[in-house]
Amino acid sequence: MNHDINIKECRINCFRESKVPGEFMLQMRVPGGMIDSKYLDLIQKISKTYGDGNFHFGTRQTFDICRIKYEDIDKVNKCIEDYIKEVEEGLCDVDMDLVAHEKVGRKVNTGYPTIGARNISACIGNYHCICGNINTFELARKIEPIIFPSHYHIKINISGCPNDCNKAHLCDFGIIGVSKLVYHKERCIGCGLCAKICESHATRVLSLNKETGKIDKDECCCVGCSECARHCPTSAWTRSEQKFYRVILGGRTGRQTPRTGKMFLNWASEETLLQVLGNWQKFSSWVMDYKPEYLHGGHLIDRAGYKKFKEIMLDGVHLNPECIVAEDIYFNEIEYRSNFNVKPLSKHKKAGPGA
Ligand code: SF4
Ligand code: SF4
Ligand code: SF4
Repeated sequence: MNHDINIKECRINCFRESKVPGEFMLQMRVPGGMIDSKYLDLIQKISKTYGDGNFHFGTRQTFDICRIKYEDIDKVNKCIEDYIKEVEEGLCDVDMDLVAHEKVGRKVNTGYPTIGARNISACIGNYHCICGNINTFELARKIEPIIFPSHYHIKINISGCPNDCNKAHLCDFGIIGVSKLVYHKERCIGCGLCAKICESHATRVLSLNKETGKIDKDECCCVGCSECARHCPTSAWTRSEQKFYRVILGGRTGRQTPRTGKMFLNWASEETLLQVLGNWQKFSSWVMDYKPEYLHGGHLIDRAGYKKFKEIMLDGVHLNPECIVAEDIYFNEIEYRSNFNVKPLSKHKKAGPGA
């Protein structure tokens, strides 16, 4: 075994240490989880030449190739040079040469310059899904140059609608595509289907007005799912042309204090969303005194406090008029306790009838 292996350097280079000493797993970014299938040839070549022939779909939608020997890392990095350029520069407009040097001090021809900002994951969105309000992978590709490369850690999950199949509630910065629904009263035949669907599938904000034969809407709690539009037989409900986003903040998994994220922004435009994300690096570096370390975004917000987070993240941002910002956020961590306050069975028995 090579005792000179710098595990940390390998990790920054996106090679994760294996349980087998001297072996690593390469994680290749696929922003938004969508990529030309031609790259499967490359995955096959690397896994058969340097791994054991298998690859794993990473939980963050990366191509993960295991069993790569430490001494082969340079050769594997050479193999992925074009992939990185084509995906990061070609699809996502990341200036790898410039940014990688300036931001993280690594050369592009040595593979990935950093593992800090994790691969942006996304559901299939409206590329395929009938419920989708947005094109999720196109959004991911617009976000990629804002957050990558950077040593500051951030996990972003994108879901195309409030069904949240991609778990925006369980990451640092969850993005959900939402629609403002437009009601074309003149097309409405008063069948009441939209109200029934909203009742059974969403937030119960529609009702059929028996006097007018038209639909009343309680504007307070529409989640922008578009189920009403999807089911209306006369297209009396349509999605707004403009796309909107809900941002869920500070969710996380993990051993110690997993928790569900909370709503930070609602009805944000794409421009607002991208501007806010542009401040993530500034916020992270401020909290960590410009020394990146492995901490979930939720922990950073805990350190700074939501008010400070909000101040930095909204600095210089032009909020679209529809955008609502959470005044305050109170997180609820899961607390693991060994007994969950449940009394042992024997005590229950003693406390039974007549005790
Ligand atoms: S979150 Fe919505 S758009 Fe995405 S896969 Fe699920 S139902 Fe479809
Ligand atoms: S489903 Fe369409 S047509 Fe029927 S009540 Fe609702 S808006 Fe009117
Ligand atoms: S978008 Fe969803 S929540 Fe809003 S009215 Fe339609 S079905 Fe109800």
